[in-house]
Amino acid sequence: MKCSQGENFSEGQLQRFGNIELSPSAGILNYGQGLFEGLKAYRKHDGNILLFRPEENALRLRMGAERMCMPSPTVDQFVEAVRDTVLANEKWIPPPGKGSMYIRPLLMGSGAVLGLAPAPEYTFLIYVSPVGNYFKEGLAPINLVVETEMHRATPGGTGGVKTIGNYAPVLKAQSAAKAKGYSDVLYLDSVHKRYLEEVSSCNVFVVKGNVITTPAITGTILPGITRKSIIDVARSQGFQVEERMVTVDELLDADEVFCTGTAVVISPVGSITYVGKRVSYGSSGVGLVSQQLYSALTRLQMGLTEDTMDWILEL
Ligand code: PMP
Repeated sequence: MKCSQGENFSEGQLQRFGNIELSPSAGILNYGQGLFEGLKAYRKHDGNILLFRPEENALRLRMGAERMCMPSPTVDQFVEAVRDTVLANEKWIPPPGKGSMYIRPLLMGSGAVLGLAPAPEYTFLIYVSPVGNYFKEGLAPINLVVETEMHRATPGGTGGVKTIGNYAPVLKAQSAAKAKGYSDVLYLDSVHKRYLEEVSSCNVFVVKGNVITTPAITGTILPGITRKSIIDVARSQGFQVEERMVTVDELLDADEVFCTGTAVVISPVGSITYVGKRVSYGSSGVGLVSQQLYSALTRLQMGLTEDTMDWILEL
């Protein structure tokens, strides 16, 4: 789908996956006008295809587009385009329990622009790829390191929207962490340098007794759709959930820590390293709360439990 600045997107069409042509002075290449989304389609046991809350991705894209001075497809256009793309590639959706289809919508400033300004034209496209279960055994604990020097977002910046530029600042910290054997990096806020933000591509939760706490959405972390869903699922299961500023001390003192995101759903954290000090959680690796919430959400996403929240779109 294409449109000019100040106009609405018109109907798009399906085309084979392949390279696309862009002007060397396209807005996305020079000034970072790019936003993306990520969601999954699951094959249900009766053969039908399930999408999980696609309108939430549409709304997040629209919010991001406003921040990035870009026009965006309507919620209906977004969901229709996702539906059409998934159905056209239906044969690539793995059988139930064997994985899912990852869907990547991408909105970009595709028009040519030389002086710093929003691009004159925009392109919205979607590509898909089958993906296996993130962890073969369902859940596997990860080891995180808290980054004290580099930050991924600052107040007033674009950390709260899913723009391509948010991923560049994490590459250096993430590569360094991986070279030392860590799975990923947990970032701190850039002002006080003591409140948790998020991991490179997932949100973080801290469990203490019956209370589950997660950093509040203040503009510097991505409002994850899995995060939002887990908060509701946890509350419905009797946990007390708090969204507020969370200190590193609370993290180190937790019973359990887990991360949430479309790719992993829930990723239990086995250990955290903070300024050289390593803290491990649980002896067997996967905490009971992480296990319980993972099971509740994945069963819902795969159509194995009743969709009482009205979160599933069945194609
Ligand atoms: N934070 C960041 C920076 C991410 O890239 C993602 C993945 N989209 C998330 C959090 C989790 O968001 P969601 O649950 O919507 O996938």
